[in-house]
Amino acid sequence: MSEPGQPGSPREPAQPVQPGQPAAPSGLGELVGRLNAAIARRFARSLAVLAVSAGDCGGCRAELGAAFGPVHDVQRLGVDIVVTPRHADALLVTGPVTDAMREPLLRAHAAMSEPRIVIAAGACAIDGHIFVGAPAVVGPLSALLPVDIFIPGCPPTPRQLIEGLMAAMGRRA
Ligand code: SF4
Repeated sequence: MSEPGQPGSPREPAQPVQPGQPAAPSGLGELVGRLNAAIARRFARSLAVLAVSAGDCGGCRAELGAAFGPVHDVQRLGVDIVVTPRHADALLVTGPVTDAMREPLLRAHAAMSEPRIVIAAGACAIDGHIFVGAPAVVGPLSALLPVDIFIPGCPPTPRQLIEGLMAAMGRRA
């Protein structure tokens, strides 16, 4: 039977290398490490967003639509909307958290891979705003999930939304 490294011996599988982790001593490991670091740098300049209305009045969603519209066009900066938490880097929530949306929000957050960013967009998501004390309202987003980025406003302007999304993207760099 041939020894590893001899002709005819089985090839040893390459070990995955995480960004920032020292590369394996072999030339292949070093190459994989450099490739992973390059991929991490490139994709840090993009942000996949799952936007969820937890009970908003429609104002925040309209401004979010404008941020992605032809005038502001936040997609040119590397931000895109996705429809599944499995593909999302960030969970952007508008409106106060209602009873009906409590469980779906928790499930969506749990389905996202780390590092996951949570964005509270608009006054209602931040502190409940005009819906404080309303029946069927659980409370602000921070009562349910750890919030990383707060975007103020009622509703936030497209520019405020874009600044918040850029801040979220900066956390990935
Ligand atoms: S922050 Fe203002 S625009 Fe947004 S959901 Fe609340 S009331 Fe509506």
